[in-house]
Amino acid sequence: MAETDTTIIVIGAGVVGLSTALYLRRSGRDVVVIDPLPPPGGASFGNAGMISADTSVPIALPGMLRKVPSWLADPLGPLAVRPSYFPRALPWLMKWIAAGRIQRVLEISDAMRALHKDAFLCWKEMLGPGNFSDLVRPVGQVQVWEANGESSSAALERTLRERQGIPSQALGADDLRQMFPGISPAVRRGVLVPGNGYTVNPQRIVQTLHRLLLEAGGKLVPESVYKILPREGGGYDVMTNVGFHRAQQIVVAAGAYSLRLLAPLGIRVPLETERGYHVMLPTPNVSLTTTISNKSRSFGVTPMEHGLRVAGTVEIAGLDAPPDERRAEALLANIRTMFPDVNTEGHRFWMGFRPSTPDSLPILGTVESRPGLFLAFGHGHFGMTGGPPSARLVSRLINRQATGIDAAPYAPQRFTLR
Ligand SMILES: Cc1cc2nc3c(=O)[nH]c(=O)nc-3n(C[C@H](O)[C@H](O)[C@H](O)COP(=O)(O)OP(=O)(O)OC[C@H]3O[C@@H](n4cnc5c(N)ncnc54)[C@H](O)[C@@H]3O)c2cc1C
Repeated sequence: MAETDTTIIVIGAGVVGLSTALYLRRSGRDVVVIDPLPPPGGASFGNAGMISADTSVPIALPGMLRKVPSWLADPLGPLAVRPSYFPRALPWLMKWIAAGRIQRVLEISDAMRALHKDAFLCWKEMLGPGNFSDLVRPVGQVQVWEANGESSSAALERTLRERQGIPSQALGADDLRQMFPGISPAVRRGVLVPGNGYTVNPQRIVQTLHRLLLEAGGKLVPESVYKILPREGGGYDVMTNVGFHRAQQIVVAAGAYSLRLLAPLGIRVPLETERGYHVMLPTPNVSLTTTISNKSRSFGVTPMEHGLRVAGTVEIAGLDAPPDERRAEALLANIRTMFPDVNTEGHRFWMGFRPSTPDSLPILGTVESRPGLFLAFGHGHFGMTGGPPSARLVSRLINRQATGIDAAPYAPQRFTLR
């Protein structure tokens, strides 16, 4: 497919970029995706694969401010800010804390619900029924706690679920032992959210999006975008490490790196990376039928087709600091505590960059000063969930179709207005 002035360029071949490209291509648009890495090279490669259609709980909740000292004091805690990076992250962290006010939490929860509720539908729409049943398990997710009573954050999560009419089922210690043989007796209670699920392989599901895009006539160019140059009279030139592309419309879906492309255009939105880690256990000797999120220790476990994935932790340290493998080792210690008989032989560590906004909502839409430039990033902890519905929304915005849901809560302008 030759690039013409009507070609849409999508920068980034993660779950968000490829989903957007696929929706656009299937709507009849010419699409070229640019990414130097074979898909999925970014956060979409190593996430926990949870598809949380029935989750509408933002990351920032009331009471965050009290926790700041412990974030700074404990480099291996579930949420750590590298002291040297703290001054740079401070403006974002302040917005994050502000997003934890209860009135704002309720608004964010409504917007998350509106976007997430069609996650399985969009995955199925994109993958088709055969690929969907091969790759996706809509079997629910279980959250567990190592305490008998309900914590204040668990109570708030329950309130938000009830407010949104999301079904859930309380589980006692005996239920958990039946569902998950070998789980430690320290795990006391749980909640099953039956409307959630997971993919058995985030890498393969995104590679499938890539294959489907190529089959539909889309194209992936293995180049790195250096700069987006607005053209006199409209449209953009896209300068890459080895070439030059031209388009009237561009979608920036470069995950945590998106701001590096936008800052030279004068576009500043609050995007920070919450670095996360995973440990893959190829022969875990633990067999799960659903994912488990351990809320007392802030990590998740997903049964994947190539082993057990233990994922989590948030580290605020920017895009350039090297990984701190001690955080992955802490995940290893956590899984050994939750499943004392787990076999961790042959384990492998990974780190990825969650592209996170302070209000847990992605940034989707246009900026007035840059016509034809669309932003599609900022999915934080929920890209495998919100990515496909966001892609549908952005493709509808580009095609000037009805968006189906109110697009305002995700618009970049919300940050300048607040
Ligand atoms: C440990 C961990 C666990 C997670 N678990 C879950 C989960 O269970 N469920 C869930 O819903 N979400 C989860 N997430 C979040 C999810 O992975 C992300 O929100 C999602 O992958 C973001 O997708 P993306 O396409 O925006 O970014 P990415 O997947 O990071 O893709 C961005 C792409 O842009 C490319 N790019 C960057 N700069 C340029 C450039 N200059 N030129 C060209 N291309 C460029 C990169 O190479 C990359 O391929 C998790 C994340 C982590 C780290």
